[in-house]
Amino acid sequence: MGKNNVTRDPVCGRKMNKNKAYVVIHLDQEEYYLCCPRCQAEFEKDSQKYINKVKHN
Ligand SMILES: [Zn+2]
Repeated sequence: MGKNNVTRDPVCGRKMNKNKAYVVIHLDQEEYYLCCPRCQAEFEKDSQKYINKVKHN
């Protein structure tokens, strides 16, 4: 069960616990967990790139 709490930041690739994400972005029926304001800015700047990255995971 605990496994579901681990996710990956699509911007920096860092694994983290969902509870510890800096921000969660809901987009296209997916959730993106970002670790810091910098990753959030990067994600918002070029979200398509990171969305594709996640889907290929
Ligand atoms: Zn990050």
